[in-house]
Amino acid sequence: MRKRRRQSREVPEALRLARRELDRWRGRQSGRKRLPREFWAKAVDLARVHGVNRTARTLGLEYVSLRQHLERAGAASLSPPVGPAFVELLPGRRTDPGLSCTIELEDGFVIVSRAKRTIQFPAQFMLVAAMNPCPCGYFGSNLRSCKCSPGQIAKYVAKVSGPLVDRIDIHIDVPAVAFSKLRSRAQQINSDSLRASVVAARARQTRRFGTGTVLTNAHMSHSQLEKSCKLDATSEMMLKEAMMELGLSARAHDKICKVARTIADLDTSDDIRAEHLAEAIGYRKFDRKL
Ligand SMILES: [Zn+2]
Repeated sequence: MRKRRRQSREVPEALRLARRELDRWRGRQSGRKRLPREFWAKAVDLARVHGVNRTARTLGLEYVSLRQHLERAGAASLSPPVGPAFVELLPGRRTDPGLSCTIELEDGFVIVSRAKRTIQFPAQFMLVAAMNPCPCGYFGSNLRSCKCSPGQIAKYVAKVSGPLVDRIDIHIDVPAVAFSKLRSRAQQINSDSLRASVVAARARQTRRFGTGTVLTNAHMSHSQLEKSCKLDATSEMMLKEAMMELGLSARAHDKICKVARTIADLDTSDDIRAEHLAEAIGYRKFDRKL
């Protein structure tokens, strides 16, 4: 019983869901039918992440067929940029001991090392990751009480790699939405108005950077940052205090300036004001825990 539970936990969620979907499709078919093209596309995506052997085994596909589909689709996988990548429950991630994979999040490529070969692929994507505040998920909630000890919480948070968190621009708490707010008909920001302000902020950035390779504040070089993220004396002092109090790295310093620049752009302001900087510092929540 214990062995079976361990095995099922080791099969990644995405593979299990795909297997379930494939089983449902197989259940509906009478006789032998060719697998739909969209399912092969999904299997190829999974094979890129989990390996051909494991994906073929889990999904009950022929290894050679999956390998051929992957080779055929290979070129498309190399054309950046890729959309956002969402990682759920960050502390639960485990790495394959036989595979070393270095993702240069900021430089836009991924290095995969096996025993004898190291290959570099372009990989420009936006990483969005989520985790619970503690193992039970209710630390800091006013809906239910947390059952975890401080030691358990510290151990859980420590599973997330510090250097990875340092490379993430924005860390925020997303508290549960209260029922009254969920049902409220009060005016809220809608996607259209949000989109309009993002488009306007992007236009400001285009004017700032011209036609070079840098398109957004996130990719500014250090010299561009010095030119575009000038702070007044109050903001300068606020940033200095935050750096010392939170023990922030040089990378975190640059990220705060870039995020503050974007907040100012969204506020249609040419200057980064103290409130823009304060908001950006507030988005380094994880630095307080590590
Ligand atoms: Zn808890």
